[in-house]
Amino acid sequence: MADLRDLYQEVILEHSKQPRNYRELGDANHKAEGYNPLCGDHFTVYLKLAGEKIQDVSFQGSGCAISKASASMMTQSVKGKTMAEAEKIFRQFHGLVTGAEHNGSQEELGKLAVFSGVSEFPVRVKCATLAWHTLHAALEGKQEAVSTE
Ligand code: ZN
Repeated sequence: MADLRDLYQEVILEHSKQPRNYRELGDANHKAEGYNPLCGDHFTVYLKLAGEKIQDVSFQGSGCAISKASASMMTQSVKGKTMAEAEKIFRQFHGLVTGAEHNGSQEELGKLAVFSGVSEFPVRVKCATLAWHTLHAALEGKQEAVSTE
């Protein structure tokens, strides 16, 4: 189990150092801003929606390793998905990091399962879910910034 944890940490560190899709999306047609005042995480999520489909997604901002890695992996998992599929992954991911969801859905979550250890640290749950809450707001076309508080 210890080895598995190390591996998880490696993935998270690697994504936080080299976040994927970390840029402003010039032709975004949806975007939202999210804050986690508890930790100081602050991100903007950009979306290019084509009908129901997320054609492109990116993010920018700053935050702790967990929030940044989570944002990076969020963009990878929802790119090319429909809005409904993205919301479904969000619900599963939320269940995973809050400890509500057990092993069953981890396979479906794929690489996102590296965040399962977060459920042991309630303060970190907000870091891990910030980008997802922000994605949700962007999908809904909300203008005001999202806050985890
Ligand atoms: Zn954080």
